[in-house]
Amino acid sequence: MSDLLCVKAGDAHAYGCPVCASRDFSENLRAGSAGRNYCSNCRSTFVTMHNGANQSSMGIPIGGYSVFPSVMPHPFKGSSVQIFPAK
Ligand SMILES: [Zn+2]
Repeated sequence: MSDLLCVKAGDAHAYGCPVCASRDFSENLRAGSAGRNYCSNCRSTFVTMHNGANQSSMGIPIGGYSVFPSVMPHPFKGSSVQIFPAK
């Protein structure tokens, strides 16, 4: 599960889903500083880190695995292009 996207919660709210840039996502699980989010536009699961944390100290259950994601730069940060694939 090394391809799991993990971004800062503030970046997700500023730039949207790290896959499609949609704001149509919601946090459906919280473990410590890490939140698991589901984007209902592109149906992707990704993790947001809260409170300035860069590495989750608690496992996030995703697809039968427990992952300890670390923050990566938001793919759309610094970009003026906003992509919203059709549902
Ligand atoms: Zn998305």
